[in-house]
Amino acid sequence: MPYVHDTLERLKKSSPAQTEFYQAAEEVLECLRPLFERSPHYHDHSIIERIVEPERQIMFRICWTDDAGKVQVNKGYRVQFNSALGPYKGGLRFHPSVTSGIIKFLGFEQIFKNALTGLPIGGGKGGSDFDPKGKSDGEIMRFCQSFMTELYRHIGPTTDVPAGDIGVGAREIGYLYGQYKRLTGRYEGVLTGKGLDWGGSIGRKEATGYGAVYFAQNMLQARGESIEGKTCLVSGAGNVAIYTIEKLYELGATPITCSDSRGTIHDPRGIDLDLLKELKEVKRASLEEYLANHPEASYIPANDYPADGHAVWRIPADVAFPCATQNELTDGDAETLLGNGVTCISEGANMPSTAAAVDRFLDAKIAYGPGKAANAGGVATSQLEMAQNSSMQQWPLEKVDAKLKEIMANIHQQCADTAEEFGEPTNLVLGANIAGFRKVADTMIDQGVV
Ligand code: NDP
Repeated sequence: MPYVHDTLERLKKSSPAQTEFYQAAEEVLECLRPLFERSPHYHDHSIIERIVEPERQIMFRICWTDDAGKVQVNKGYRVQFNSALGPYKGGLRFHPSVTSGIIKFLGFEQIFKNALTGLPIGGGKGGSDFDPKGKSDGEIMRFCQSFMTELYRHIGPTTDVPAGDIGVGAREIGYLYGQYKRLTGRYEGVLTGKGLDWGGSIGRKEATGYGAVYFAQNMLQARGESIEGKTCLVSGAGNVAIYTIEKLYELGATPITCSDSRGTIHDPRGIDLDLLKELKEVKRASLEEYLANHPEASYIPANDYPADGHAVWRIPADVAFPCATQNELTDGDAETLLGNGVTCISEGANMPSTAAAVDRFLDAKIAYGPGKAANAGGVATSQLEMAQNSSMQQWPLEKVDAKLKEIMANIHQQCADTAEEFGEPTNLVLGANIAGFRKVADTMIDQGVV
C-alpha cells in the first residue's frame, strides 16, 4: 500500500538516524494496512502523516556539578507526541543510551498503549543521557533539580504528567517533584510514581509488573490454560522485573531467572525475591552478589552470552517475561524459546523483542502479548494516581489492584476482539495496534485539523 510505504520513507528522510523510532513506526503502520483498506477516510484526513509527527519536541541542556566540583553537561528531552485523548502521559528515562530517537520510539508506543487503557491520557515521553549508576545521592539530586528547572515550564497536571522509567524510580521522582514545587509554589499532581506520603498511589510501584502477569494470565486463560504451576523466565532486575516476579509467586508460578546489564541469575528453585529487593531497591548492587546467599544458583556474566542473544532466553521454561529494555530478545533467542517449548510471552519492557523475533512468535501462533498492551498497567495506574490527586483521596490497595486487573482484562479483550475482527485471532500485535490507533485517529478526526 503506497500510503504506508510513502509515509515511512518520508519519515526516514525527515528524521534521520532514528532507528528504534522507525522500528516502532513500521510495526504499527504495517499492522494498519487492513484497516486502511476498509476505512480509506483515514487517508483523506492524513491521519498517519499527523500521528507519526510529535505535536512538540523539547530538547534542552542540563548542567550540574558533580561531587568533585566539576561541571557536567547532559542532554534532556520531552516529546509531547499526541494529546487527542488527554494530557501527555509517559515516563522519563535516565540512561546513557538515551537519544532523541529512543525517546521518540517510546513516545510513539505510548500513544497507542495509553489509548488501549481506555483512560483519558495522551502520549509523551522524556529523559536524558544522564547515567545514574555510580552517582551519589547528592549528584542525583543536583541533576534532577537542574533537569526540572527547564522541564517545569512545559508540564502541568492537565497538560503533561511525566512518570518514571529506566533509571527513574522513587528517589528521582522525589527530587524532581521537590524542585517543581520550589519553582512553581504549587503542590499538585504533576508527576506520578510519587511517594505514598506525598500524593503517590498505593500499588503504582507494583503495577507494570503485576499488569504484565495479569496479561499473561488472560492470554493463557483464553487458551484454556493457567499461569499456576508454570516455570517462568524474567529478564531485568528493576521495577518491572521485581514486581513481575512478586505477582508470579502470588499466582503459583515459579520465576527462575532475572538479569541486569552485567549478567543473569538462574536459580532453578525460584528467585529469592526478598534478596533481589534488598540488592536492587536498597543496596543498588550487582546481581552477582546474589551468589553470596545462594551459591547453588548460577551467574552468567554478560560477556558469556551467546553471540546472537541473551542468556536468559536460552534456559528452558514455559513462559517468558522480557522486562529489561528494547531489543533484548533477538531472532536467535526467539528460535531457542520456541524450540524449548515456551508457549506464552508477555512483554513488561517496551519493544523488547526485535522485529524478526516478533515475526517468529506470530508465525508460531503462541500467546504473545506485545509491550504496548502487556505493560500498560503501569501507565493505567499512573492515571489512577492522577484521579486520586485531583479528588484529594488515597485509595486502598484492594481498590487499585482490582481496577488494574479489570483494565488488563479489558485491554486483552480489545486486542483479541480486534484481532478476530480482522481475521487473525491469535495476532495480538495486530489487535493492539488497530484498537489503539482507531481510538486516537477517530478522536483526531472529531477534533478537526489542529
Ligand atoms: P529499571 O531502571 O527499574 O530497571 C531496568 C532493568 O533492566 C535493570 O535491571 C537494568 O540493569 C536492566 N537493563 C537496562 N538496560 C539494559 C541493557 N541495555 N542491557 C541489559 N539490561 C539492561 O527500569 P524499569 O523496570 O522501570 O523498566 C524496564 C522496562 O520496562 C523498560 O523497557 C521500560 O520502558 C518498561 N516500562 C516501565 C514502566 C514502569 O512503570 N517503570 C512502565 C511500562 C514499561 P542495570 O541496572 O544493570 O542497568
